[in-house]
Amino acid sequence: MNSPPANAAEAPAGVVARLLDWSVVDGPGNRFVLFLQGCNFACPGCHNPHTIGHCDGCGACIPACPAGALAPAGGHIAFDPARCTRCDACLEACPAGASPMVRRMPVDEVLAALREALPFIGGVTVSGGEATLQLKFVVALFAAIRAAPDLCHLTCFIDSNGHLGPLGWARVLPVTDGVMLDVKAFDPTRHRALTGQDNARALASARLVAAAGKLHELRFLMVPGQTDRPEEIGALVALARELGGVPVRLNAFRRHGVRGPARAWPAMPRAGVEAAAARLAAAGITVRLPAVWAGD
Ligand code: SF4
Ligand code: SF4
Repeated sequence: MNSPPANAAEAPAGVVARLLDWSVVDGPGNRFVLFLQGCNFACPGCHNPHTIGHCDGCGACIPACPAGALAPAGGHIAFDPARCTRCDACLEACPAGASPMVRRMPVDEVLAALREALPFIGGVTVSGGEATLQLKFVVALFAAIRAAPDLCHLTCFIDSNGHLGPLGWARVLPVTDGVMLDVKAFDPTRHRALTGQDNARALASARLVAAAGKLHELRFLMVPGQTDRPEEIGALVALARELGGVPVRLNAFRRHGVRGPARAWPAMPRAGVEAAAARLAAAGITVRLPAVWAGD
C-alpha cells in the first residue's frame, strides 16, 4: 500500500466533471484524464459548456431526468449513478452551465482509480473546464503520483487556457511534466469576444511554460471568419517560432455541443486547416491535426 504525502490528505477534493480511463488525444500516449469542473473563460464555442459553471442547487435538472437519478438533498442534488443512462438531459436543462453529476474526489480516491487503469496508461492529464482553477488539488495529486512507487512512472500533464498567473505556475510546474496550452486568438479584441477574457495572460503563460521546458504543445481552435484569418495564423507561426518551434495542434470548430451565438457559426473546413498547417510546416513547426474530420 502506497501512502500519499501529508498534503494530499489536506488538499481539497477535486470537483470532477468526468473521468476518462483511456484517451489518446489528451497528451502523449495513452492517458487517464480528469475533466475538472469550472472555467474562468466563457467561450460560446466551448464543446463542453456544462463544465463551465458550478451547481447552485436550483433543482431545474431534477424533473428533466427521465431515469429518476436526481433528487433534492438539503440544498444540493443527490445523483444516483446506478440509475443514470447518460442521456445528458440534465445538462441541457441546467441554466448555470453546470452538471448535477460532478463527483468530489479526494486525492487518494483518484489514486485508486489510477491503479485500476494502470496496465493501460502511461500518464495522467488534468483538463476541464479549466484545471488550474483547482490548483491545490492538482498540485497535491501530481505530488502524490510522484511519491507513489507504483505510480511515479506516470507523466503528469495539464491542459490549460493559460489564464493562470506566474505564482500559480511556480506552484504547479515543479510537479508537472508537460502542458498543452490554448491560445484562443491573437487579436486581443477577438480573444475577448471568443472567451470573455484578455489574452495577455495566455501569451505570458505560453512564454513562461516554454522557458521552463514544459510546453508540450500550443493548441489553436480555427473558427471560420474569426481565427482562420491570415493575421491570426501569422501570429501563431511567429509565437511557435519564438518558443523554439513548439508543436502546434490545430483544432477545427464544429457546432456539436456549443451554445448561443456559436450555433450559427459555420464548421471549419478541412481545406482551411490544411492551409494553416502548410504555413506552419513551411516555418519548420510540427503540426498536429484533428484525428477525425466529421462533417466534411
Ligand atoms: S444524464 Fe442526467 S438526465 Fe440523463 S439519466 Fe443521467 S442524471 Fe438523468
Ligand atoms: S446542475 Fe444546474 S439545474 Fe441542476 S441543480 Fe445544479 S445548477 Fe440547477
